Amino acid sequence: MIEIKQDIREYVVDNKAIRKFQVSIQNWYVNDGRSFPWRNINEPFNILVSEFLLQKTNVEKVESVYKKFMNYWPSVQSLSRARISSVSKVIKSLGLKYKAVRLKTTAKMLEENFNCEVPRKSDKLLKLPGVGKYIASAVECFAFNKQKAILDTNVIRIFNRVFDIKSKKSRPRNDSRLWNFAQTLVPVNKVKEYNWGLIDFGALVCKSKNPLCCKCILYSICIFYKKNKTQLKTNEREKS
Ligand code: SF4
Repeated sequence: MIEIKQDIREYVVDNKAIRKFQVSIQNWYVNDGRSFPWRNINEPFNILVSEFLLQKTNVEKVESVYKKFMNYWPSVQSLSRARISSVSKVIKSLGLKYKAVRLKTTAKMLEENFNCEVPRKSDKLLKLPGVGKYIASAVECFAFNKQKAILDTNVIRIFNRVFDIKSKKSRPRNDSRLWNFAQTLVPVNKVKEYNWGLIDFGALVCKSKNPLCCKCILYSICIFYKKNKTQLKTNEREKS
């Protein structure tokens, strides 16, 4: 057993379990991960836009909006000149009007302060309106291939179940100890596959309700599974 960090003493995870976790998530993504138009692309602007659109929204709704959005405003300059009412109209189905203002204001800031380029570092990304730690890390990883962790409700749930990690904060997404823990788990290679894998695995397998434990690649290291094995197997038998 190793102690991951002095200030996160309660988060103790075996090295072998970490490696198994990383490799399993990466391999699962390669075989079963989802494909979206904002993945496996090299345009930081498109990736930043997709992260804005994906915030607090069902991913299925975003795909068609994203395509339409990029058709109208494929660059920082074009979005910077767009009318907020036009942007609102295109993203209306996502139901979050404030996003139109954020997108337009961000494009203006990128044009005026960053030479129309999306910054590569989180300290600058965090200056953009509506960019918090999650979006900054996602852009650093997905657009610039950096070894950065992402942490949202789905990822927190996976950590909680697999490693029995719990946050004491009322808003776990902002818990710096959880972020530190997430960062220690990020593999050196194939970081995008690992992070996309976590997102998809939380949505499709380790779901908030009725996780698919009996078919899960992580069952051998999962503390939730160990604690609930008997009940989970009984439920599975009853279903079949
Ligand atoms: S065994 Fe169940 S709880 Fe554990 S990671 Fe898999 S789906 Fe999630």
